[in-house]
Amino acid sequence: MSYKLFIPGPIEVSEKTYKAMSAHIVGHRSKDFTNLVDDVMPRLKQLFYTEGDVYLSTSSSWGIMEGAIRNVCNKAVLNCCNGSFSDKWYDVSKRCGKEAAELKFDWGKPVDPEALDKELSTGKYDAVTIIHNETSTGTMSDISALMSVIRKYPEVISIVDTVSSFSALPIKKDELGIDVMVTGCQKALAIPPGLSFLAVSQRALERAESVSGRGYYFDFLEFKKNMEKSMTPSTPVISLIYALQSKLDDIFSEGLENRYARHLENNRIVRQWAYGHGFKLFPEEKYGSVSLNCFQNNLNVDLPGLLAELKQKCHMVFDGGYGKLKGKTFRISNMGDETPDTMRELLDNIDGILPNYLGK
Ligand SMILES: *Cc1c(COP(=O)(O)O)cnc(C)c1O
Repeated sequence: MSYKLFIPGPIEVSEKTYKAMSAHIVGHRSKDFTNLVDDVMPRLKQLFYTEGDVYLSTSSSWGIMEGAIRNVCNKAVLNCCNGSFSDKWYDVSKRCGKEAAELKFDWGKPVDPEALDKELSTGKYDAVTIIHNETSTGTMSDISALMSVIRKYPEVISIVDTVSSFSALPIKKDELGIDVMVTGCQKALAIPPGLSFLAVSQRALERAESVSGRGYYFDFLEFKKNMEKSMTPSTPVISLIYALQSKLDDIFSEGLENRYARHLENNRIVRQWAYGHGFKLFPEEKYGSVSLNCFQNNLNVDLPGLLAELKQKCHMVFDGGYGKLKGKTFRISNMGDETPDTMRELLDNIDGILPNYLGK
């Protein structure tokens, strides 16, 4: 059975994208491949708002999230933790054998710039991780305020996860001064999983030169050396790079501003619908994500029951809460190719069955 994904990743993939993936494979050391990379790279850099290097990694985002830790941290990394993905990044830092500390906030709260400033001022750290859009709680931190704090500490390399916000709203890497910006393909880019992207500053590359134990597969300097020839260190997931090429065509023919406005409008429609029913947003309104909404299940909906019927009858799924928030929250993604019409279609379908599952 096929059904439409409104979970916050992986999300629905268009027929056009699937078709692009079926292009015949070329050798990854051939001119055909470097032409493909040369075609996607300028537009990819535009989406990152960077003039610096962008690398293609054949892995899900966790590969380069771990890789970034292994490339830029000599002394200690501060992991800002405010949800499931950011909490896990702390665990991953320790598993990489790094000195790591967590700066903790309650789930659903953004990363607080003042608390970050205070902790960085101890001088203990040479790297920091932040998740821009905590997908587990639908919480978006104020990246501009956080980056102004981090820029006061020249020794600190910033690693920012934009996995579920990239291309849903502008995140201007160079202007913000982000050193390492990582994202994946199966969230707002609406590509099947397996490809991830990292934009790396000169400062971060210089740091990498001084760090040992970078490994091979995610070594920034290997990525750099190969990208100078429009190549990747090892055989990449070529089919997904074709998918990316097709998706960039979609994005730039729609226009970036139109794309951002569409995501906002989709998001607003879902919020209005939920407020109309009496649901509350899980994070504070102004920190609510624009690519998904996470609501409190304050009406005590039987989420497993509702989700099962929605899937079976309407062939649609959304998410019934992540990790420790399972059953207590629900999340509806509005990323990728979704439009106000497709969002309303989902909401109408939910409305058709919701009364059966209320307050049980
Ligand atoms: C989905 C997600 C990840 C993990 O991505 P994978 O592709 O599963 O490795 C990391 N961070 C955030 C914010 C995410 O939404």
